[in-house]
Order: sequence, then structure tokens, then C-alpha cells
Amino acid sequence: MNLSPDSYVNCAKQNWSKLKNSAVAAIFLGIAATLLPLDNTKAQQSTAEAPAVEAQPAQHKPTLAEAAGLAQGKVVYRDVVLIDGTSENARPDMAIVIQDDRITAIVPNSAVSEDMLDGATVYDMAGEYVLPGLIDSHVHLATLPHRATASAYMKRYIYGGITGVRDMAGDVRALADLSRASLVNEIPAPDLFYASLMAGPDFFSDPRTVTSGLGGVPGKLPWMQAITEDSEIALMVAQAKGTSATGIKIYANLPGKLVQAIIAEGKKQNFPVWSHLQVYPATPYDSLGATVASHVCMIARYVGERNKQRYGHDNPPSYEGITAEHPEIRKYISALLKSGTIMEATLSVYDEISAEQAAALNEDGTPQRPGCSRVLAAGITRAMLEAGVPIIAGTDRAAPADDPFPKLYEEMEALVSDAGLTPQQAILSATSVAARGLGKSQDIGTLEAGKFANMVFVKQDPLADISALRSISLTVKRGHRFERKDYEHKNIPELVYPE
Ligand SMILES: [Zn+2]
Repeated sequence: MNLSPDSYVNCAKQNWSKLKNSAVAAIFLGIAATLLPLDNTKAQQSTAEAPAVEAQPAQHKPTLAEAAGLAQGKVVYRDVVLIDGTSENARPDMAIVIQDDRITAIVPNSAVSEDMLDGATVYDMAGEYVLPGLIDSHVHLATLPHRATASAYMKRYIYGGITGVRDMAGDVRALADLSRASLVNEIPAPDLFYASLMAGPDFFSDPRTVTSGLGGVPGKLPWMQAITEDSEIALMVAQAKGTSATGIKIYANLPGKLVQAIIAEGKKQNFPVWSHLQVYPATPYDSLGATVASHVCMIARYVGERNKQRYGHDNPPSYEGITAEHPEIRKYISALLKSGTIMEATLSVYDEISAEQAAALNEDGTPQRPGCSRVLAAGITRAMLEAGVPIIAGTDRAAPADDPFPKLYEEMEALVSDAGLTPQQAILSATSVAARGLGKSQDIGTLEAGKFANMVFVKQDPLADISALRSISLTVKRGHRFERKDYEHKNIPELVYPE
């Protein structure tokens, strides 16, 4: 196992019986017992049973908790300006106390006690801003699995302050491997949450499903299930859960009745369901009640092309005259608000469209009709925000290969500049609201005692200007530190997809 040297820093302080009694360690022991080779596990157990055996000073034997990648020790970050993801105002002169992988206290600098400092590593942050670790709610890391490329993306995420990503369907075998490698701190990476896909049977000839299901039959795999009238939905949701995915993604083509049945079953089994805003021939109203609906402009397409029967980006309708004020869009927004479904806008997938592009004709003289514009997508997002719909930040796009920062920064900047979110609202869209979309609010999304130590330190004030995220100095994920100065960006290799 390739553990970072960080894991060994606090070796001397290890106390096996203390760890054994901690609930957190128990969870990791459960994981580690399934991960480590049997002989290694045995060796650790006998150490636990016979702590009096003389230590070999030259050779450090990692504890099981260390081997499982659990951050170790007490750390205090002093003199921070706290943006905790719960309140409007930043609080200066604060301190955050961490034990192992979780926050144990957040107090004013003046209230840091001797007890808190006892045995702690202390960092004076000199007034830097700290906010909860960011979450990109829409990435694709294993459509065509390639570990080196995925690892390069994940490295850019974690050194860019992103401590969690939601992968919206790929090869779950590869995603599980990456997720575990991240969890045990074998690679510098955010926590990886991923989807198990459900769609109508005709979707599973798409080349992307072939690359994500090599060795099996797409549509008949637990992470890529074709749903029909005859499907036992309860069993299929249970199978999706069994892949260790975090939620179900509903995609492409399905009738409304089946979309509703999957959402209802997800609720019953306490498993998030993430849907495209519309699948076909279902309507956008059928996916209300899902935990999250993706791609804001699909509602404009529904208004412009009411009888679309099948999924696809081709031949878009004319969006002329469609704005957020359209009565059909207003009606949808009211229903959306009532449903409690979170909207993942993905402004990043909607481009600016020039007047020239809008007026362009095909060779046969018919209008070219570019897709939904950024202006329209942002306008609808703004109307949803004003109505009170929760918005989350997802990109569905990667930044260019040579960009040292992740695409999420641009999405958050666009949510502010184009859709009218305040910087604080944009931060919530990538932290606490995103955590709700994942069903993980108990552990991540805000800075509070008891939650994972997932946080980003930036030198400038992101509440004054959201682009201040680019002044990032440090990411902490589950207690592990990733200093920005240690990140050397290398061009990320582009993957070429088979035809
Ligand atoms: Zn996507």
C-alpha cells in the first residue's frame, strides 16, 4: 500500500486501545479488515492483544487505523476568518480544532484552551479565510476508465479545494477503486460519490455504456440497469445500492410511470435518486420528487418542443421568445419548489451564443438553431433562485488540460455573474446544499464540530469576490493536508473515445 508520509507523522502518539474504543476507528477497522491481506490483519491483532511486546525503534509498524489511511493526531488552525456554510456573516479571529479526521471544536481564538493545545500541531493561519471543502456535483471520471487520467483530474480537484465530487455514471468498478484509493489516502483526491445508472433498454447501445460495462451486457449490470414495465424496481434499487454507489441516476428514455416508481422506491430504501430534469417520453413533472434534477435548460426545451419522445441533443427547437417569465416555466418552477427537489443548473454546459450564430442557416436554408444559450439558462436559474429553489453547482465539463484550476470555479463565478447568486449563495451551492444532494449532510458540507475536517483556506475574501477561490493556499480533507504550493500542474492527457 502506498501511503503518504503524512500518515506516519504522529506514529509515536499512537495508542491502540484508544483507537479501538473510538467509533470512527471501528468503522475504518471494518473497512480495513476487508482490504488488508489476512496475514497483515493477524499481525495487527496480535499487537493489540499484547501491547507489552518490546517496540523495535528502528521500524515503525503502522497501526491498522494508519494503514487504513485515517488522519491521525490533534491539529489546531488559529486565526482564521470562518465562513462555515451555515450563516451569512464571516467570523474573524476564530480557531478550528481537529482530532484525526473530524472537527471537534470551533471557537474564538481567545477561547482556545490549554486542553485544546495539549499535544496539538498548531498552524497560525494569519487571518486567512476558511470555508467548507467544495463539491462539484457533476463530473465524469470513468466513462472510459483510465486510472492515470482520472487520478490527474482528482489531483487537480483536491489541490483546488474540492473535497468531494459526484460522478454521474461510469464504470462503477473503476469508480469504486478510485473512491477507495482516495479514502485510504493512497492518491491525492476528493471523496468520490458516484451513481448507478437506470434508463430505458434502448439507451444501452450507446458506446458510452459499452466502455462503462466491458465484460458484461450494458443494461443487465447492477450499475447500468435497463428498466421496463416488467422490472422489479425494489430489487433493482437494492442492486444499485449494492454496487456501493451513493445514488441512482435516471437518464435518457423512460416513461413517466417508471421514473416515478424509481423515485418512490429510492425514498423507501433511503437512497438518493438523481434525475435529468427530463427523460423521454416522461415530462419534467415526473422527475419532481427526485433528490436532484440536472440541467436547467431542459425545461426550456420542454416548452419549445413539447412532443419530444426520445433523448438527444440534435435538432433543438427555436428558443426564440422563451424566457424565464414564460408561463409554462413559471408553472414548472412553482411545482419544483413544492417538490423539494434540488436543481443542478450546470451553467457550464450552456454557451454564450452570438447574434451571428443565432441567425446562421444550414445549406438548405433552414435555421441552424444553436442549443440553449447561457443567457436563457442563467435567467431560468435566477428565477428558480428567487422563488427559493435550492441550487447546486455541478460542471459536467472539465477545465482545459492546461488549466491549473478546476472547472467548478468558473461554474461558481457564472452562478454569481450570470444567475445572480451572491458569493455566499454560490459557496452554499458547492458545499452545504451539494452535501444535501448527496444525502451526506451529517458528515460534510459545513464547518461544524462532529463533521469531517474538509475545508479550504483562501487568502482573499470569497464573500467579496467569488474568484478569490483562486487565492487558495490549503485544502484539508478528512484531516489530510494538501498545500497548494505542493501542486505542480501538468497537462492532463485527453482520452480518445472509441467510435
Ligand atoms: Zn453528465
